[in-house]
Amino acid sequence: NIVVVGSINMDFVCYIRRFPQPGETVQSYRTETKSGGKGANQAVAAALSGGKVSLVGAVGNDSYSRDIVFGLRNYRVDTDRIMQKKSDIGTAFIAVEESGQNNIVISEGANGCLTVEDLKDLPELFGPSSVLLVQNEIPWACTRAALQLAKDHGVRTYFNPAPALGIEEDVFPLVDVMILNESEAESITSIRLSEELSDVKQAASRIIALGVREVIITLGEKGSFYMNDQEESIFTPAFSVHAVDTTAAGDTFIGSLIAARQQGTPIREALRQASAASALAVSRAGAQESIPTAEEVAEFLSR
Ligand code: ADP
Repeated sequence: NIVVVGSINMDFVCYIRRFPQPGETVQSYRTETKSGGKGANQAVAAALSGGKVSLVGAVGNDSYSRDIVFGLRNYRVDTDRIMQKKSDIGTAFIAVEESGQNNIVISEGANGCLTVEDLKDLPELFGPSSVLLVQNEIPWACTRAALQLAKDHGVRTYFNPAPALGIEEDVFPLVDVMILNESEAESITSIRLSEELSDVKQAASRIIALGVREVIITLGEKGSFYMNDQEESIFTPAFSVHAVDTTAAGDTFIGSLIAARQQGTPIREALRQASAASALAVSRAGAQESIPTAEEVAEFLSR
């Protein structure tokens, strides 16, 4: 099974003509509430790709929280280890201007109430072929503890260091596979990524040198670059699609890739499937509701 320890949010998305000035009120022409958070999105992506997924995280004691947990169950994500905190659900307030630019205010809510103590039973979820997936939207001590527990139990670890803030490099040796986008790779390696693939290679090498066994840098509409500690590398081009909404592109890529690897798919083919899944996700509006199923990905690849 795939054990995800990560964030669960309610996203409030307001579509507006232009951002308000300080002190100004503007009218939104459409507002949507959506279940989100990188932990939840990646769990849903892995489940839709055929993975058996448990999500460990925290919600609040409000009605949004109940709706979100119900929604996750509908995606066949095991929610038994989602804790209820005396707090509000984590939220993201997203204002999207007509130009497509966005402004986001995050409130960690229940995600910030997760403690290392809450994770002490995590190993009960680990079986012989389990993997762990973490991001960086819960307290850093919890992310670190989850990686350490997995390592102690011989469980393969995947780390998406997003957002790339407050990452301590001494956890890198606990990471089997790091998956990150261009801006996260820039902030972790301090290498400015130009259009040249040589910069991306250099950034990947630097991450490998810090103790990670495999790294994948996603490059938006350009594709992705994989490297392992044997210096093998694979560039996978993105599929050309009409991009409608790139929200959850990375989350879909990650969930799909891990589910494919779990099912024994070789890395080159797993990267191709992840690329197809995320291309489908960007060709549709929304976050979780834009994530395709394994059947949709297979159909897309057979076209
Ligand atoms: P994030 O969403 O984390 O910023 P990226 O933008 O790098 O991540 O996207 C992740 C993956 O999604 C890419 O490696 C690519 O395969 C796919 N993807 C992203 N944008 C597009 C696009 N416009 N067209 C096709 N595929 C895309």
